Amino acid sequence: MKIFVLNSGSSSIKYKLFNMDQHLEVVAWGEVEKIGEEISSISLNSIKEKIICSNHHEAFKQIAKQLKKTGILKDFTCLSAIAHRVVHGGSVFSKPVLIDETVTDVIRRMIPLAPLHNSANLEGITAMQHLAPNIKQIAFFDTAFHQSMPASSSRYALPEYYYDTMQIRRYGFHGISHHYLAKESARLLGKPLQICNLITLHLGNGASATAIQNGKSLETSMGFTPLEGLVMGTRSGDIDPGILLYLLNEHDYDAKKLDHILNYQSGLKGLCGINDMREVIQKMQLGEENAKLAFNIFCQKVKQYIGAYIALLGTVDAIVFSGGIGTNSPEVREAVCYNMAALGIILDKEENEKGATFIGHEGEVKILRIKTDEEREMANQSLQFIKESDI
Ligand code: ADP
Repeated sequence: MKIFVLNSGSSSIKYKLFNMDQHLEVVAWGEVEKIGEEISSISLNSIKEKIICSNHHEAFKQIAKQLKKTGILKDFTCLSAIAHRVVHGGSVFSKPVLIDETVTDVIRRMIPLAPLHNSANLEGITAMQHLAPNIKQIAFFDTAFHQSMPASSSRYALPEYYYDTMQIRRYGFHGISHHYLAKESARLLGKPLQICNLITLHLGNGASATAIQNGKSLETSMGFTPLEGLVMGTRSGDIDPGILLYLLNEHDYDAKKLDHILNYQSGLKGLCGINDMREVIQKMQLGEENAKLAFNIFCQKVKQYIGAYIALLGTVDAIVFSGGIGTNSPEVREAVCYNMAALGIILDKEENEKGATFIGHEGEVKILRIKTDEEREMANQSLQFIKESDI
């Protein structure tokens, strides 16, 4: 039997198909891109072809057709479960849930808090409910892992009214990834997760850091939206909110323009015109000052969060680098860990260059490099969910 793990975005759908019987072996992976555009594309196990595809429902039909044609899956009714990644679960969900009308209502209610993501996630759910009506569908929330944060981490210092009536609080994101990294770190450290203190760094286009105490999220850098915290590809991360007031009051900016600047024109892109860290590093190595500044600000911010999280946690078993940047860039890992010996963080340069898993000096805070696998985490939890709820 197989588990179909889905990540539905506004114009793309990514999936992985896991075989439940063989240690969750991946039997197929694929993607439909540019949904709704004139020409879309579909890929299966990295082989890509062009298609016409106007919406999510159509995209899933094409995926089903391709899986059938290649003999991988007869149809969606052969699945054991379908796992959907959902970005925002508000304060309601702290673990995966079987999708029913109440759950879809909550996901819909959360759309204003994650407009691009939750509406696309819901489209995926609705399409699959039509195409595989009898298969159990499970929702996994990026916010769920951070529901363990105490009020001292989750509340803003705003009047209580905004929390009570508008649920303005810190939710945190990338939770599926941070949870996976926590479990994988515990396994690598040979310690039960329940007694592990970790700082996990998911550094991709979106980037976040999480302080994990005894296996649970204690604090994380993203907040009410995925805009808070670290510098990202095109997002600003932390800035003085006074800047927004200044632009609104003195320069006639409106909310739409601010949204565009903060989400799409800032971060690495704002600083040096490029949002791809690989290119930023290349330009920096060619001596471009703006690229160097973008690199330095990105790394300094990660360093500052590590320092703050060490102060919160007291003791730390490991710092964990992940995400496209964290996994692939020895330059970023070196810059982040530079001059942190006083905090017990000493990078092993050779192991770092080699891209080993353990890249810190023995006896100090361990430094790990782990490729995150959100789909595997969802497949694993689906398996557990199926066992426990006997679906
Ligand atoms: P997303 O958040 O979209 O899932 P990823 O986790 O795939 O993003 O990370 C994308 C980022 O990883 C990009 O900025 C990309 O440049 C960066 N990246 C990938 N490989 C390297 C590399 N070898 N060196 C530096 N950055 C890299």
